[in-house]
Amino acid sequence: MDFSDQALIFKLGKFKEADLWVRLLSPDRGVYTAFAFGGSRSIRRFCGCLDVLNIVSARVEASRTKEYMVLREASLISCPSRLRTDLGRLGIAVNCLKFMEAFDIPPDSAAVSYQLVNQLLALLEEDDSPPPLLPNLFRFCFASLQGFAPQINTCRICKADLSNFSDYYFQTLEGGIICPECLRKSRPGPYVRLCKDALTALQIVQQGRPHAWKHIDFGFNREMRAQCADAIDGFIHYHVGLAWQGNYFKRI
Ligand SMILES: [Zn+2]
Repeated sequence: MDFSDQALIFKLGKFKEADLWVRLLSPDRGVYTAFAFGGSRSIRRFCGCLDVLNIVSARVEASRTKEYMVLREASLISCPSRLRTDLGRLGIAVNCLKFMEAFDIPPDSAAVSYQLVNQLLALLEEDDSPPPLLPNLFRFCFASLQGFAPQINTCRICKADLSNFSDYYFQTLEGGIICPECLRKSRPGPYVRLCKDALTALQIVQQGRPHAWKHIDFGFNREMRAQCADAIDGFIHYHVGLAWQGNYFKRI
């Protein structure tokens, strides 16, 4: 049960005057919570590094009764600076972390989840013009990594290669895309029409690598941007089963 770990501080809070609970995302263990006794005071053991979005090296042990985990020591590996002062960027990062929090991140998807969120934070920290729709793009990519990936290269019904068409229809309830011929032949239910650029954008986003997202040309194509946002929002709402409830994502 005792281990040393590199982890991102995902969330934290006080439970006594000087004691903290810390939720960490580790590339090996997924999300876990540990109690840092004296966490808001002990410079010797925590170096003032217990803050959300910091990456720390942590030493964790089981409590004496084996009922919970105790963060014994932590030291700082890296911390964002631009994110701490730019509230717009910080808001995007926190929104993305809250979306992740709504999932149980099992150990087998911990490494890709950790990598994705670190790439997102690096983009927000380093890039002068992060892409529009970044929270939406992150949700689509992260949900895909967690096993909710919609098939977006072939028609959900006839399996035709979608590159043979020029417009497509994202079926909100089914969470998949159909071709124009299947749209004509079936009862499609609610859907979002996608142009070729919108489909290409979703394909790029689903592959991960947030640094590639800034090359998607949303700026000059408002219609395509709206199509992507509507398709992703519908997918997350109806297929993943999460909706934004003012300050957090709730299972619906
Ligand atoms: Zn089809």
